[in-house]
Amino acid sequence: MDTHSPDLLSKTGLDGMRTGAEYLRKLSEPDRNVYQNGELVRDVANHPSYRGAARSIARLYDIAADPALRDVMTFTSPDTGKPVLRCYQIPKTKQDLADRRAMVTRWTESTFGLMGRTPDHVASFLTGYASKASVFDQLAGKEWGDNMRRWYARARDEHLYVSYAIVPPQINRSKRAHEQSDPYLHAGVVRETDAGLIIRGAQQLATGAVFSDYVYVSCIHPLQAGEEAYAFGVMIPVNAPGFKIYARRSYADTASSMDDYPLSSRFDEMDALVVMNDVLVPWEDVFFYRNIALCAAQWWQTPAHALGNHQAQTRWATKLRFLMGLTKRTAEITGNIGVPPVISQIGEMAAYATIVENMVQMQEYNATLDDEGTLWPSRAALYAVMAIQTDLNPKLLNMARELAGGSMIMVPSSMRDFDNPEIAADLERYICSPGYTAQQRAAALKLAWDLIGSEFAGRHEQYEKFYGGASHLVRMNMFRNYDFGRATALVDQALSLKD
Ligand SMILES: Cc1cc2nc3c(=O)[nH]c(=O)nc-3n(C[C@H](O)[C@H](O)[C@H](O)COP(=O)(O)OP(=O)(O)OC[C@H]3O[C@@H](n4cnc5c(N)ncnc54)[C@H](O)[C@@H]3O)c2cc1C
Repeated sequence: MDTHSPDLLSKTGLDGMRTGAEYLRKLSEPDRNVYQNGELVRDVANHPSYRGAARSIARLYDIAADPALRDVMTFTSPDTGKPVLRCYQIPKTKQDLADRRAMVTRWTESTFGLMGRTPDHVASFLTGYASKASVFDQLAGKEWGDNMRRWYARARDEHLYVSYAIVPPQINRSKRAHEQSDPYLHAGVVRETDAGLIIRGAQQLATGAVFSDYVYVSCIHPLQAGEEAYAFGVMIPVNAPGFKIYARRSYADTASSMDDYPLSSRFDEMDALVVMNDVLVPWEDVFFYRNIALCAAQWWQTPAHALGNHQAQTRWATKLRFLMGLTKRTAEITGNIGVPPVISQIGEMAAYATIVENMVQMQEYNATLDDEGTLWPSRAALYAVMAIQTDLNPKLLNMARELAGGSMIMVPSSMRDFDNPEIAADLERYICSPGYTAQQRAAALKLAWDLIGSEFAGRHEQYEKFYGGASHLVRMNMFRNYDFGRATALVDQALSLKD
């Protein structure tokens, strides 16, 4: 599967589907305030730090626009009658959830599960909001609910890429938003004007913001009375005046070549602090403001969090499949694949990967229907797998490292070494493996290093630990969703046993 050949990026999409070429064209417009290495980036699509990842995202749009994949990748918009991304479909049946998984899986296979906040992620949250718009109507009022409904339909019908920043900057976690040294360190509403809200402050850790069209800015941290200014949900275009995207260092920058760092160079989706210097948000882009109840309810009283993380877990399952494939390939290359303890260890890893994959399907199997006919992925199944992810992911990486020995390290400094006739003979003699040329061996092991050991890999390990929030919070979600009724009933039954 070629994920990067530019000629695969078609020019126009049938039936109005967004194509990779259209996406890249928009991304090269010099209108957003993205900063990298001390400089304002004028052309995100072609900047050396971003061009690989930008093309990977463009490729996603091309996959979705491929008429041969129409049934997998799209459904029909109820408003336009045209095909739109399936991640915007409100699930009514288990088949709808399975179809959503199939779409997400197709995309994640093209990124090997290495891009978390692709356009299907926040789309799943918006879909969750729209399916339960009554929560917005009740807690804020119909006009705000309608803003959200219109936005959902717009993002869906215009194939928009929305990222989100929903966690306040760390600064000082021992103090609440309004107790910080400045009341507008955490993003907050400064004032209301006829034209809209003025927002000041920062929010983190907007993965994909550099590449997206809009950032949904809100807060997932529980807020208390006194923190009303921080309780809002707004959609901000990345080119809004005063909106700045301070990206972390790009790991593509240190990737010496695509051959040596095949993943860092293609899939670094970037994380960023977004800073709002009195950004004006027009009223139609405001879902709610000064509303602590709705700020919390959007995550937990709608299926947004469940659908968004069903997407995230589908991605993780693909990534684990990729890890399993590379682990097996590495053991074949080192010749250890026939050793019983090695087989046993790979078997144990395969068991965990299978559990994760099956737990995604359990979210569908045990899904529950709400009073408006929307099917929510089972939250018990979802949070169970999220709660163990923080420990399981590093455990699997550790097992893969153990099996690899020094193989991922003992590779030529660059694939270019093979072009030097003075050393090529030695490399071919001492770096090969049975069934693999030296170049094949080096390519596979460099791939493994980029998944397990490079700086890009280190960021990924942190991502899997934190993308769903700090682990103590994820475990609390599990606590809230476990069926303790059945569990304690057993205790009561045991206590009522008579002689
Ligand atoms: C690579 C990456 C990508 C991300 N992408 C996004 C994104 O796209 N959008 C977005 O909005 N957010 C994103 N996140 C941010 C993520 O939501 C936060 O990093 C996460 O919620 C943790 O918050 P924090 O970093 O402020 O850690 P903190 O809240 O400061 O917590 C740090 C650690 O302190 C300890 N701790 C703190 N309080 C307690 C407590 N009460 N009990 C026990 N232990 C405690 C825990 O060990 C905890 O893990 C991303 C994070 C990472 C690492």
